[in-house]
Amino acid sequence: MFKWLLVIAVVVLGYVWWRHQRHQAMHDRAAERARHAAGRPTPSQPDTMVRCRHCGVHVPAADAVRGGLGPYCCDEHRHLAEG
Ligand SMILES: [Zn+2]
Repeated sequence: MFKWLLVIAVVVLGYVWWRHQRHQAMHDRAAERARHAAGRPTPSQPDTMVRCRHCGVHVPAADAVRGGLGPYCCDEHRHLAEG
């Protein structure tokens, strides 16, 4: 009788452990998915956008042409606006 109780206890403990492992694996996968989903809408684009003073197009600040009066989308527009 005691032997059976031991077997049941081992089975129950094994089941609880297995469920715990499975839950943790599922939790890790969900966290990874959430991380991927959160990273998708902004693919390395935390840099600010500036507006071309000539045509009004928005360009990343790093790609903008700096003029005397402000940022431009290209050198041509800087010439057109500032002469
Ligand atoms: Zn422009």
